[in-house]
Amino acid sequence: MPPLMYGTAQLTARLEPWMEDLLADPVLCQELIEEHGSPLNLHDFAPMSRNIGELRKAAAEHETDFQIYLARKANKTLGAIDHAATEGCGVDVASFHELEQCLKRGVPADLLIVTAAVKSSELLKLAVDNDVVLSLDNVDEALDLLDIEAQSGRRVRVALRLASSNPRIAPTRFGLRAEQWLQFLGSAERTAGLEVCGIHFHLNGYSAEQRALVLAEALRLIDALRDLGHAPEFVDMGGGIPMSYLDDASQWTGFWEDLAALPTGDESLTWKSDRLGATGTEPSGSVYPYHQKLIRGEWLNQILASHPEGEHESVAQMLKRRGIQLRCEPGRTLLDGCGLTLAQVAFVKTRSDGLPLVGLHMNRTQCRSTSADFLVDPLLIQTGAPRSERAALSAFLVGAYCIEEELILRRRFEFPQGVAAGDLVAFPNTGGYLMHIIESGSHQLPLARNLCWDNQQWTQDIGDKERTKMLSR
Ligand SMILES: *Cc1c(COP(=O)(O)O)cnc(C)c1O
Repeated sequence: MPPLMYGTAQLTARLEPWMEDLLADPVLCQELIEEHGSPLNLHDFAPMSRNIGELRKAAAEHETDFQIYLARKANKTLGAIDHAATEGCGVDVASFHELEQCLKRGVPADLLIVTAAVKSSELLKLAVDNDVVLSLDNVDEALDLLDIEAQSGRRVRVALRLASSNPRIAPTRFGLRAEQWLQFLGSAERTAGLEVCGIHFHLNGYSAEQRALVLAEALRLIDALRDLGHAPEFVDMGGGIPMSYLDDASQWTGFWEDLAALPTGDESLTWKSDRLGATGTEPSGSVYPYHQKLIRGEWLNQILASHPEGEHESVAQMLKRRGIQLRCEPGRTLLDGCGLTLAQVAFVKTRSDGLPLVGLHMNRTQCRSTSADFLVDPLLIQTGAPRSERAALSAFLVGAYCIEEELILRRRFEFPQGVAAGDLVAFPNTGGYLMHIIESGSHQLPLARNLCWDNQQWTQDIGDKERTKMLSR
């Protein structure tokens, strides 16, 4: 039987067993929506354990000392922190509140790293008071930190954020080049107050090859730091560890080929014939690569086994010889399989020119990342007897913001058995970024609730209640 809903150019989601069980129970889905409102974010963190295991296995095969820090910004629930901590992972935090929450949840200081792009003095102070490592971005930040060090008299542990000087790596706003760090540490007398315990970097994109290059660069910086009397212990290569939302590679490439073949203005695949940033038949760089060949363990294996720029040692050997721990900060890939967003259909209608529209009790910030679109087919759950009869339909999903371009997704969808007000639409695998990273309370609409599966029932994440209080000054 064909699905009740699929993209006109299909991009079929990979589903976890918990998602399939949930979707097979329309009564439960409806009850949850009635109790908690639409949209609703549902989490089951069991797959995080598998995702962690895949990475650890690859590191163990190379005898690499390895630690994982969940990138907190990818998901706002406390459930995510708790699950990562239960697995023995650390957490990478990007703000005062993220750090404070993790400390309150009992995450040990040495399993935390602060990587915030801009750090308030409150954040610096909280980290210093709790002996948490800060990823240092620039000299002004270092001087702010040294002021705090002078006042508190406590040790201040930092990882230097490295901006690669390698011409094969794109210019970055983050961190400083190795020679800038060495110059800073060599020049200012006061820098003796900083204990450099590691090197940190985070690259755009998902290239294993680029990470191997910068790992080698970071290890050269570590050698130079050791010569200066510092004792760095780790390199943290940040996030960007790939995952796949789609199992079918041919659907992914086929989608871009179909899109490229459409005449301008043809809306049979996307809203207003949107190319989503593509210029030809290749996947656009403006969207996440929703299908990737090497993910997690195999990807890490490729880095550890590689010999960047003809080095005689592999990356794993280079780390091991120096006794350096490899750290990473995956967000999306650890949350792979951990989240799903449910929304209720509000109406079915046509645009003024007759194009079918399905309106959801949801807005477009509630299933979106910085990508131009979420390129995964949602699933339709028909709930009971509809108010008006369902008839086969090919439509776009529109949302609650008062804007013509308020599309939940930019792609067109088929509903072979129709759709009606009261039905539910499920967006699979939204746990990493999609439900949280840009959600806004515009129009004074409330944010979606977050429920977590505690192995017995769905309960609201405590983070929801804390948030309102936290976010007002
Ligand atoms: C966003 C971010 C991450 C997580 O990236 P993913 O692509 O989700 O793995 C890790 N570290 C830093 C510094 C980041 O900014």
